[in-house]
Amino acid sequence: MTIILETRNLSYSYGDGTPALKGVSISLQEGKKVALVGPNGAGKSTLMLMFNGILRPSEGEVLFRGRSMMYDAASLRSIRRAVGMVFQNSDDQLFAPTVYQDVAFGPSNLGYGAEKVKRYVGYALQYVGLIGYERRPPHHLSGGEKKRVAIAGILAMEPEVIILDEPTSNLDPASSEEIMEMLDELNLGGKTLIISTHDVDLAYRWADEVILMKDGGVMRRGTGQEVFGDANLIRDTRLKLPLVVDLCHELAGRG
Ligand code: ADP
Repeated sequence: MTIILETRNLSYSYGDGTPALKGVSISLQEGKKVALVGPNGAGKSTLMLMFNGILRPSEGEVLFRGRSMMYDAASLRSIRRAVGMVFQNSDDQLFAPTVYQDVAFGPSNLGYGAEKVKRYVGYALQYVGLIGYERRPPHHLSGGEKKRVAIAGILAMEPEVIILDEPTSNLDPASSEEIMEMLDELNLGGKTLIISTHDVDLAYRWADEVILMKDGGVMRRGTGQEVFGDANLIRDTRLKLPLVVDLCHELAGRG
């Protein structure tokens, strides 16, 4: 078992003094599918931004492969290549005039030559099923297609970990399903995946490990069954129970 990401006593307050993380100590295993769940304001996005160095801890530290994260330009470039982040709103991520340019941005920035960039972009677009979209402007695409372009942009840098903030929010059920299947495939290929979600059914069904957050802290971590098995805890965090668990409780209640 290899620990790929770890936080030790990690705290963070935003500039206006809002405490967003309070002494979070967790470790994530390589190759796992992890879901951060919790109500709005629990600190899920803030924790994700810590994992690839976009935010810097107020206290404590983040470790990648056992090494404490450094925040100089070269270290940040290297961590952002290894730990890719897909934002909740694709419009925050996609900015180039064409799909090709958008996906090429990361590998070009890493200093790859034109041929290598082309190869990586081709591979990434093929992976997400968007070959033929190279010249299209990203802002004219559907929500699901935009999400795929954003994922391709990350894949083109060959990350070890992919973090996705609410990957299925604003997508229709079919597009959501496609994105989650794509994430499963990436995981089978060895990538560690971390998502945040409000969708307890998705977390229960998809994740190897669920981390339940509330008020900037971790309330419980474990398998979906372990975390969602505690109905009182779930109620306390103002989440719903996954449908399957709710049904089991209901049936048990009726004997
Ligand atoms: P979640 O992703 O679980 O909804 P966040 O990490 O976005 O939680 O937020 C954690 C806390 O930090 C909340 O109290 C939120 O209001 C606050 N927060 C988030 N972003 C900012 C920001 N840019 N400036 C000030 N406070 C923020």
